Amino acid sequence: MGGEAVDLVDPFGRVIRDLRISITDRCNFRCTYCMPSEGMQWLPRSEVLTFEEIERLARIFVQRFGVEGIRLTGGEPTVRAHLPALISRLADLGVDVAMTTNGATLRNTADEYRAAGLRRINISLDTLDRARFAEMTRRDELDNVLAGIDAAVAAGFDPVKVNAVIERGVNDHEIVDLAAFGRDRGVEVRFIEFMPLDATGHWMNDKVVGQDEIVAAIDAVFPVEQVPARGAAPADRWRYLDGGGTVGVIPSVTKPFCGDCDRVRLTAEGAFRTCLFATEEFDLRAAMRSGASDDDLAARIVAAVGTKWAGHRINQVDFIRPSKSMSQIGG
Ligand code: SAM
Ligand code: SF4
Repeated sequence: MGGEAVDLVDPFGRVIRDLRISITDRCNFRCTYCMPSEGMQWLPRSEVLTFEEIERLARIFVQRFGVEGIRLTGGEPTVRAHLPALISRLADLGVDVAMTTNGATLRNTADEYRAAGLRRINISLDTLDRARFAEMTRRDELDNVLAGIDAAVAAGFDPVKVNAVIERGVNDHEIVDLAAFGRDRGVEVRFIEFMPLDATGHWMNDKVVGQDEIVAAIDAVFPVEQVPARGAAPADRWRYLDGGGTVGVIPSVTKPFCGDCDRVRLTAEGAFRTCLFATEEFDLRAAMRSGASDDDLAARIVAAVGTKWAGHRINQVDFIRPSKSMSQIGG
């Protein structure tokens, strides 16, 4: 089938442009805000989408529905074998391919990913303190992640973004240090408000450090001004007045940006989700494996997007936590 792409439009008039694909639920870290220390039940390999299946669905999103960006995530996407081959298949669709990673192995692979066609990279780093890093990720890998960030910059990824989840009483006193790190290394640090997607269920509203508090802490040391217009991007951004670059905050809890959301998600087992916090999934793997045509898959995607809600309800009394945690959905 050829022809013009048709926009995927949800019931609130938002046009879908961005697809997040989780390529594995497995991970080499056990971040406290994401996973328990042990006992995660991994998907059997036979239930995880193959590269062929991922590419087939990606092609439908890109060619039929005009999706412009694909972000690979997980779990930890870099633990999936032969990742450069998948990156290159997706890049060949002519779409902007990005990835979110914990960065632990990037020092060895950044060049390879870049050569395969990866355009943008986000690396998670929540603390600059080795002991705290080991507590937060349950792995003693700070030096490797720092080397991974340097390798990503050296490989030519531009911008390199660094994601820092801030949890009150854990790493909130490092906000300014992390901002300074971003300025020094020439990377954009993006602070993420802690969301109720941790596997252990310890999230509480008072553990969230909100955007206003984060920006005030930074502004007190490195004065900033807000960069106008976020569009569909989740981060609000600020510019350092002294020319030291930019810093972002993803205020998922205190200032939800659902009204501009252009994202949909595919989990590692091929479940289609219209929101990170969705409680409903659409099983595209079962459809593919029982012989669905591309037309059929496209129709299922359109129907699913027709259920996308106006926004999550974290701050409302009727908020229902998704039964899956962050690493099982794909952050
Ligand atoms: N493993 C990769 C990583 O950590 O970058 C990609 C997957 S991870 C689930 C994607 C992002 O979600 C990371 O930046 C991580 O810090 C963030 N994250 C995980 N759990 C979170 C939570 N409960 N609240 C906010 N962000 C969270
Ligand atoms: Fe793994 Fe990323 Fe979750 Fe940390 S946040 S446990 S690195 S998936």
